[in-house]
Amino acid sequence: MRKTIIAGNWKMYKNIVEAIELSNGLKRELFKLDFAAVDVVICPPFTALSEVAEVLNESDIGLGAQDMYWQDEGAFTGEVSAPMLKEAGCGYVIIGHSERRQFFGETNETVNKKLKAALGHGLTPIVCVGENLKEREANKTFEVIEDHIKNSLLDISAEDLLKTVIAYEPVWAIGTGKTATGEQAQEVHKYIRDLLRKIYDDTVADSVRIQYGGSVKPENIAELIAKPDVDGALVGGASLKIDSFTQIVTKASEVKK
Ligand code: PEP
Repeated sequence: MRKTIIAGNWKMYKNIVEAIELSNGLKRELFKLDFAAVDVVICPPFTALSEVAEVLNESDIGLGAQDMYWQDEGAFTGEVSAPMLKEAGCGYVIIGHSERRQFFGETNETVNKKLKAALGHGLTPIVCVGENLKEREANKTFEVIEDHIKNSLLDISAEDLLKTVIAYEPVWAIGTGKTATGEQAQEVHKYIRDLLRKIYDDTVADSVRIQYGGSVKPENIAELIAKPDVDGALVGGASLKIDSFTQIVTKASEVKK
């Protein structure tokens, strides 16, 4: 049985004061719900991690970062390491988000290095994969997914993969308001699971959680999460408001009950 996981990626939004306000609001609203069947994670910008960690203290909401570097320390100006994230209170880290691949030169190779470092330090990685519009229109979705999965997960043991979350995020659906239909998401999630079956085994394939990400909103979460291979959502825009994120968590837990 795979536990549903809903994660909010705040991207480069919310200063410290706003982040405290949002996390406090989420803590208050989610406390009223029975969301024990769902893992809820929020991923604020680096600058707000420590303060949000304090807010989340004694709550069941997990804290994640949006990226990290694979070295523990050194002359790597501007980077943040896994031990630093742990110290700030993180249990999760997003790796290989399409915005990092698109704007900051992230590749499968760097994703793989970050993934190994995150796992080595006991962080739960959320590894993003997904095709862009051009690739989808050229019928290359499965090819791109296979490349992302095989190379991002290179030399990751079955034991480590079981601690990893995969996020299928079609780039054409991120921040565009265009969501994949439940069928489109299920098709790719099943493809990823079958690929994991070939690379690893049935236990791994049937246990790894695969989230969908791309314009998830309170209006479409139920359709997406109802699909058998969709184990949660990585939410961008709709995670920035207490009301919409709470509704997404509520609806996801109702469907997965
Ligand atoms: C994301 O940032 O991972 C994302 C899916 O964004 P949005 O929900 O805004 O499309």
